[in-house]
Amino acid sequence: MSPESEAQTEAVHEFAGRRLRDAEQMYTKGRRELVLLLHGHGRPATIPDLLDRGATLTQSSMYRNMVDLQAVGVVQKVAGADDRARYELAEELIGHHHHLICTQCGSVDDFVAPASIEQSLDSGLDKVLVDRGFQINGHRLDILGICAECA
Ligand SMILES: [Zn+2]
Ligand SMILES: [Zn+2]
Repeated sequence: MSPESEAQTEAVHEFAGRRLRDAEQMYTKGRRELVLLLHGHGRPATIPDLLDRGATLTQSSMYRNMVDLQAVGVVQKVAGADDRARYELAEELIGHHHHLICTQCGSVDDFVAPASIEQSLDSGLDKVLVDRGFQINGHRLDILGICAECA
């Protein structure tokens, strides 16, 4: 691991540990492992994906710990085109992004939109929603289509 990504991983553990401590919970070995596996996966992961990456936890304790990490805002659930549960680290940790969802094979990938698109999205929505007195402080946008593998 490069010193840079090592520092990144340390920052992720720091954040997760702090969130759990604030909720009076422990950053157990199992939770650390899940956070590390999710961080390494680099896109939304299912529990079987994480088992393939060499997870040592049982499936049931992975689900349990995932629920706990979600409750403290370290992990979030990701919607796909199918009903498989996918997880990723919170945007606070990995940055704002969107998801490309393949409606054929169900794959879900991260997509960081160029700043110009983010800006026109926000300003366009602002204009439309100001009449409703709604102040935007974020958005979620999934893009549906056919991935390169399936095309
Ligand atoms: Zn596909
Ligand atoms: Zn965005």
